[in-house]
Amino acid sequence: MKRTIICTVCPQGCEIEAEFTNASDIVLKGFSCPRGERYAKDECLAPKRVFTSSVRAEAPGRRMLPVRTKEPIAKEMLLPCAEAVRQIRLDGSVKAGDVIRKDFLGTGSDLIASMTL
Ligand code: SF4
Repeated sequence: MKRTIICTVCPQGCEIEAEFTNASDIVLKGFSCPRGERYAKDECLAPKRVFTSSVRAEAPGRRMLPVRTKEPIAKEMLLPCAEAVRQIRLDGSVKAGDVIRKDFLGTGSDLIASMTL
């Protein structure tokens, strides 16, 4: 099975061709650097995404605070994270980059504030 992946690690956007030789072995062609090779391998075997959302906040003039995971997380965790983030309420001051939840849902990545509240 073949698949074409556009690398999104940098603006060059290399087109990487991935061919599965069996369930876990892939031959990759078209990447220009090791970061792209790693990205394509992850995308084929264990795709990850940065989770972004908003949490409820009690602050003058602001009812929602944008948040994101510090690192990309397993794609299958995006929906559970979207459900869990709805339970979070913030009522103190928060600065951009502050950790809202450590190791959010065991994803290995912290949930952090994207802006100052
Ligand atoms: S393979 Fe390397 S050079 Fe090409 S888009 Fe990815 S990171 Fe950029």
